[in-house]
Amino acid sequence: MKHNNPPTTIKLTVDKVSLRAGLYLVGTPIGYLKDISLRALETFMSVDFVACEDTRVTGKLLHHYGIPTKKIKYNDHSNLPARENIINIIEQGQSVALCSDAGLPLIADPGYKLVAECVEKGLYVTSIPGANAALTGLQLSAMPTDQFIFLGFLATKKKAREDYLKRWKDVPVTQVYYESARRIVDSIRAVQTVMGERHVVVARELTKSYEEVLSGTCSELIGRLEAKPIKGEVVFIVSGEGDVKELNDDDILKQLRCEIHEQKHSVKESVRIVMDQSGWPKKKVYEHALTVKNE
Ligand code: SAM
Repeated sequence: MKHNNPPTTIKLTVDKVSLRAGLYLVGTPIGYLKDISLRALETFMSVDFVACEDTRVTGKLLHHYGIPTKKIKYNDHSNLPARENIINIIEQGQSVALCSDAGLPLIADPGYKLVAECVEKGLYVTSIPGANAALTGLQLSAMPTDQFIFLGFLATKKKAREDYLKRWKDVPVTQVYYESARRIVDSIRAVQTVMGERHVVVARELTKSYEEVLSGTCSELIGRLEAKPIKGEVVFIVSGEGDVKELNDDDILKQLRCEIHEQKHSVKESVRIVMDQSGWPKKKVYEHALTVKNE
């Protein structure tokens, strides 16, 4: 879906305000520059320093809004001295805004140790809310949102990824993960292996020009994404245990095609896999497997 980027320019004058000494956790856009709050801009303008994951990335955002505040680095590689530097600045009565490259700092991004140390020292810490990829993806997933669990990034290695998924297999609420477009098919396959056939959603490039939400069973999405691989940033959403789409004959045929023709498994092995994942009776799966084999 092409984003309808309105051709308007909003002229903003961001004034400095007086802020109390402390750490300000500031949400930034996840792709669309206007997805930033007025308070976030005012905070960036008013703090003494902006601590950024990558000064070039945040530099572009600040430049766009004409904010000249001095930037310092704070990222995953930042160690104790970097934290102590920020804490010293605050203890001397100044203010620091912490932001990541995109979205909310601390959410699958650096910052938690810094917040913990500030809180321990009794320093003022506050949050300026903003965009977040996990919640945006969840909203668009059309899966239950009354209860959900955010599970961060999936591991890149197969065994670690499957072990992690096993921990959440029986959780009966919608599961939200961060994943890369390159590994998404492997991850859907891992979900299918560990959790059985589930309803999954791949929400990619949210708020950007190529925003797209793909939805289906594991087998359906594996087939679609193998035929037409995707690029960009991805939120991966998995239905909770018990919240599984009823499989019909087409779903079973698709799964069998994948096992027999793409995975090159024998008919016997494919029937076993599909039976395990779907809970369908052996006789019915076997009949469908023969149809697929003879296609
Ligand atoms: N702190 C960020 C937040 O609040 O959303 C998340 C940072 S995390 C390092 C980056 C991951 O978030 C990406 O690998 C991707 O899984 C997800 N992500 C970030 N922006 C996204 C977007 N525009 N569309 C889809 N996923 C996105």
